Amino acid sequence: MKRKIILLIMLFFLSIGNIKAQYGPVVSFSYDDGYPSWWDLGFPLYQKYGFPAVGWINAITWWMQGTDYHALEHLQVMQKAGWEISSHTYSHADPITQLEVSKMKNWLDSLGFPNSGFQSPRNDWTHNLVNIVRAYHPYYSAGTGNYNQSEEGMSHPYDIYFLKRFSLTNDVTIQQVRKLLDSAAVKNQWVIFYGHPLGNQSGGWEQDTALLRATFDEVVSRQIPVKTVREVVNDLYPPGCVIRCSDDTSQYPVRSTFENAGSFNASVWNEYWHTVNWTDPRYIGSPAVYCNTSNKNLPVMKFYRNIPNGQYEVRATIIVKDPDRTYRLFYSINDESNPSKDSVEVSKNSDVSLGMVTVTNGQFALYTQKADVISGSNGYVGWAYIRLITQTVVNAKVYLQGSYAGSGTMATTLNSSDNLPFHHPYNDTLGIWNYRGSERVYDMPADIVDWVLVELRTGTAANTIVGSRAALLKSNGSIVDLDGSSQVKFNRIVPGNYYIVIRHRNHLPIMSANPVNLSFTNSSLYDFSTAQTQAYGTESMADLGSSVFGLISGDANANGQVQNNDLQNYWILQNGQSGYKESDFNLNGQVQNNDQENYWVPNNGKGTQVPN
Ligand SMILES: [Zn+2]
Repeated sequence: MKRKIILLIMLFFLSIGNIKAQYGPVVSFSYDDGYPSWWDLGFPLYQKYGFPAVGWINAITWWMQGTDYHALEHLQVMQKAGWEISSHTYSHADPITQLEVSKMKNWLDSLGFPNSGFQSPRNDWTHNLVNIVRAYHPYYSAGTGNYNQSEEGMSHPYDIYFLKRFSLTNDVTIQQVRKLLDSAAVKNQWVIFYGHPLGNQSGGWEQDTALLRATFDEVVSRQIPVKTVREVVNDLYPPGCVIRCSDDTSQYPVRSTFENAGSFNASVWNEYWHTVNWTDPRYIGSPAVYCNTSNKNLPVMKFYRNIPNGQYEVRATIIVKDPDRTYRLFYSINDESNPSKDSVEVSKNSDVSLGMVTVTNGQFALYTQKADVISGSNGYVGWAYIRLITQTVVNAKVYLQGSYAGSGTMATTLNSSDNLPFHHPYNDTLGIWNYRGSERVYDMPADIVDWVLVELRTGTAANTIVGSRAALLKSNGSIVDLDGSSQVKFNRIVPGNYYIVIRHRNHLPIMSANPVNLSFTNSSLYDFSTAQTQAYGTESMADLGSSVFGLISGDANANGQVQNNDLQNYWILQNGQSGYKESDFNLNGQVQNNDQENYWVPNNGKGTQVPN
């Protein structure tokens, strides 16, 4: 029943021009400072559930300094498992200075923790600090939510420089957690939990693993995705595709022009620029269009950004200072001649979709000149962010030699015998795939053969990879997203021509012979199975008979070659075992003689033709 409702909602949005539904619900877990118990108690539990978390660390803590704890090595392993390692300032100093922020950012960068976010010590927050942090980090986390007023404490997509978290310590009851998650699930909200050390002491900082496990189970039962804070921020505010409307470089006339040029008097530029200490959201310097400006002759404001050509959904973060008022903001996209061509109505802080745009000349621009009061009295309404959201979907079909059962179908024995993991197996901690995605399902959809890894390249070489996704392979060869039916979505990849690479954990990877044209929501099928020439190179697939071709089995260590070490280091050790095994080359849940005889022996000596 639930799936049907979701499908209907998706169809509705598709019918009005591919506008995406609201983001969420989503849950993030996080920790401050840095403690050995993250590794000893927390990490094993996170790995068991396949969840990532965020560690906001200082360079100078006894954990980082204590060589006994191998903190750095542990953090690097956690990062490979999908954890975000981010800044909590260099030394937790009070007050926080620019040096504390910049020094920590450099330190994290130098140790291999790039693109870090920021959590403020003591939850300190001022407008000046936001302006410092914005130069280094994509978000600023500082607030604390109140379980009794959960709505007020939630993080909102329009408030990424004042993210609020919920303290998950041993004083919190699982009933409180349930209430919060229920609200998030219904209202598509984002819940960020945080702790300090793990441990079983009550009345203080500690978070017991029993409470954490119970919280995980509540998240699982509601099927809410778990992502790091940076993942959510990057989805909502894609790097390079965000216009901060208060920025001098992405709007025109620039603020300094209003402030300095004699051609505008103060009362005119005040119609646009009003520096208010907004209470929620709290960022400073938002360009505010005064309400009821329709009868005034104001200059046209332009928000613009140079971006790659392609299709985007335009989303706007609009803020309304006072409650109980409704405004209509007029704008146009890429049309300077008529800046009031379109309009949007808001009555509160909002994340709204302005529809789809196709950029052809490398620049996006939104023009605006006025806003009307629809109801209530005059007040402030402003454009805070313009965000350009893009995606690409892959629609591909492959067969795996190991599970191929003839007549265009593959066996789903791993699924029917409950041997398929709910979390994808292409984890970077194994050191094979260099992949850190958090894809997981809460119920394995029917008809699934196994997980595959889909990769997009702009050229043939490995240094042209622009994105990877773990996805599911159906018995008919279709590669689908986590819902078991949609085309595989790549966030932040502009539709265009890409080579598609398909990887499987014990088969040889293949790549499309040529770049494939991929679109925003519905790509044409690329069927690798119809001819050898569909894949890059020569004879790069197995001939499965009846003019059907598929990925070659037998590569247990996934190094791109079927060779002796696949036999020596995997099949010989695993022979007789059952489960989700590397040397189960026919994917029937058992490592047996036929895995060696029918797959490894005939394929020994073969290698992938996907370029490194
Ligand atoms: Zn702290």
